[in-house]
Amino acid sequence: MDGVTAPNVVAAVSESRLWDRLMAMARIGGFATPEGDQGVNRPCLSALDREARRLLIGWAEAAGASVSVDPAANLFLRWEGADPSLAPVLTGSHMDSQPQGGRFDGIYGVLAGLEVIEALAASGARPHRPVEVVAWTNEEGGRFAPGCTGSMSFTGFKPMSAFDGIVDADGVRYADALAQHLAEEADLARRPLGYVPHAFIEAHIEQGPRLEAEGQDVAVVTGIQGSRWFTVTVEGRTDHAGTAPLSLRKDAVQDALRAITALNVLMHDPSDVLRFTVGSVTVEPGTSNSVARRVVFTIDLRHPDEGVLRPRGDAIPGVVQAALRTCTARVHERFTAWPADFGPTVPEAVARAAAALGLKAIRLPSGAFHDAQFLAPVCPTGMIFIPCRNGVSHHPGEYAEPAQCANGARVLTEAIIKLAGRP
Ligand SMILES: [Zn+2]
Repeated sequence: MDGVTAPNVVAAVSESRLWDRLMAMARIGGFATPEGDQGVNRPCLSALDREARRLLIGWAEAAGASVSVDPAANLFLRWEGADPSLAPVLTGSHMDSQPQGGRFDGIYGVLAGLEVIEALAASGARPHRPVEVVAWTNEEGGRFAPGCTGSMSFTGFKPMSAFDGIVDADGVRYADALAQHLAEEADLARRPLGYVPHAFIEAHIEQGPRLEAEGQDVAVVTGIQGSRWFTVTVEGRTDHAGTAPLSLRKDAVQDALRAITALNVLMHDPSDVLRFTVGSVTVEPGTSNSVARRVVFTIDLRHPDEGVLRPRGDAIPGVVQAALRTCTARVHERFTAWPADFGPTVPEAVARAAAALGLKAIRLPSGAFHDAQFLAPVCPTGMIFIPCRNGVSHHPGEYAEPAQCANGARVLTEAIIKLAGRP
């Protein structure tokens, strides 16, 4: 590193610069709630998304980074290494938000990555390997579901064309939104889709309560729990609520309740690690004086251990069928992501970085999705979590302290310096 030691670089991380940038980004798509919270609604591939990216690009170029975009609209900020031919250390996260999102989820990891570049620039450090910061396209899936389409395309988890036909609430196709977006960024340098990074490391708010509750500064994330999403359609027959005897009904609500009750028994976990959620229930015709002819409900099942996730998920169709009394049901698995184990390389680098900086750290798996999930099969991967107030995320009340944000950026900087190496 040109004779510069890591402490000099880490000391150049600026809490105030990082915080001011977080707040500047929060104004793009920002809104206030009646309760006084400050939220963000910044859909991917939108004009607001492009405005935020232009702001980021301006900062990055001023710091001396080079900017490029790949065919999936993933945005890269590159700090050149002493040997440009080597695979970069890649860091970053996403800039899109949930429709009623907060000011930190995603954008924090991008701006923390930019802070690494700022610190390298300020200290004149030139690591052995290039360092790249990425803003992945459409992590949240708030506009185009499912999310993580940018990182899935980059890693080849799915071909880009797999997402072409996804439509948003206004009927806009993903492929068309992507094409328009790339046309509006035609002045930016293009790069090919995908490469194998030397390592990937993503900084993010925890989205859970543990760091705050335990008074920790950062988490060394060990992996991401797996998820299986199902849609269950219970078919009955509509009848008049006042005239049809109960014995003759095919009441889809009653059978859906039986199915959900049986699923709760199936999913019972005394250790409270398994996550089972029925988050959406729609009833047709959905009037108070009609027997329901159809109920559609969703299941979101998550667990860090494939040995649990696989058999419990596989048992869902049989348990639903057995619980029905008069109706029929279809179970459709619409999304599957098996657990990702980050292995030792990057988590150890994060743990050593936190220890070197005197920060308190614990190890934990991530309960939420992240782009890192799709990098893990491709290269050594890890994440750094910082505390968030009350564990709240995907909500305007989402909050992290300026000092907590800076601590995460310092750990990220230290870890990246070690991963990128000396010349
Ligand atoms: Zn996120």
